Amino acid sequence: MSQEDALDLFRQSLRQLDPAVSDQQLQLFLRYRQELIEWNERFNLTSITDPVDILFKHFLDSASILAVYDRPQARALDIGAGAGFPGFPLKILRPQWKVVLLEATGKKVTFLRHMIGMLELQNIEAVQGRAEELAHQRVYRASFDLVTARAVASLPVLLEYAAPFCRVGGQIILPKKGDLTEELAQGKLAARQLGAVLRADQAITLPELEDGRRLFVWEQVKKCPETFPRSGSAMTKKPLGGL
Ligand code: SAM
Repeated sequence: MSQEDALDLFRQSLRQLDPAVSDQQLQLFLRYRQELIEWNERFNLTSITDPVDILFKHFLDSASILAVYDRPQARALDIGAGAGFPGFPLKILRPQWKVVLLEATGKKVTFLRHMIGMLELQNIEAVQGRAEELAHQRVYRASFDLVTARAVASLPVLLEYAAPFCRVGGQIILPKKGDLTEELAQGKLAARQLGAVLRADQAITLPELEDGRRLFVWEQVKKCPETFPRSGSAMTKKPLGGL
């Protein structure tokens, strides 16, 4: 596919999710892509480096969350944001949301902060830290309407990271692909202990993403018990929902 065709298809695909996408928002995506490619040569931020792949496998894939969660206002958390996925595409498309990008690795946080400045985004911050530690801080606990994380860990671990951050009535949206039968069964058992339930399992049907991607939507129905999340080593030794 030529660069021009890819950009046309990307624009059309974004409009399937949001008919009001503007040229200005498209320009933000292109500046983001350029910086990502340049920084990646020095810092190895992502393994997806082809300019067309970045449009679809990073930007559109991240934006697909709007197919299942599209509130005008939200306080959203992206755990393990890496180079900004899915947090930045969501913020570009929903500038009125308040977004926190949580990332453990310093060089990635440096890139995230650079991008926030360069794209002149407001009401978004990049925080360096680990989910299992920050989730015990009052300022973050049970305070988000939407918690998401892409390509960070298995469902039981992700749910243990995410549920403590989510307010009662809020949603946890976890993109996944591949054979998930066992992982999902464990995730459902884990969710029960964490006060969350699975509300939807939605296939993603967008161009260039026809490889079995799904969005798991969980609702936080009860406050997550204070004992969670446990330490990283406890989670590894004894994952919730272990069969
Ligand atoms: N979400 C991004 C994406 O989809 O491209 C990055 C995925 S990358 C494979 C996983 C990221 O999660 C890494 O940048 C890693 O530093 C971060 N991470 C892993 N465990 C974490 C934790 N417990 N708390 C915060 N960040 C974490």
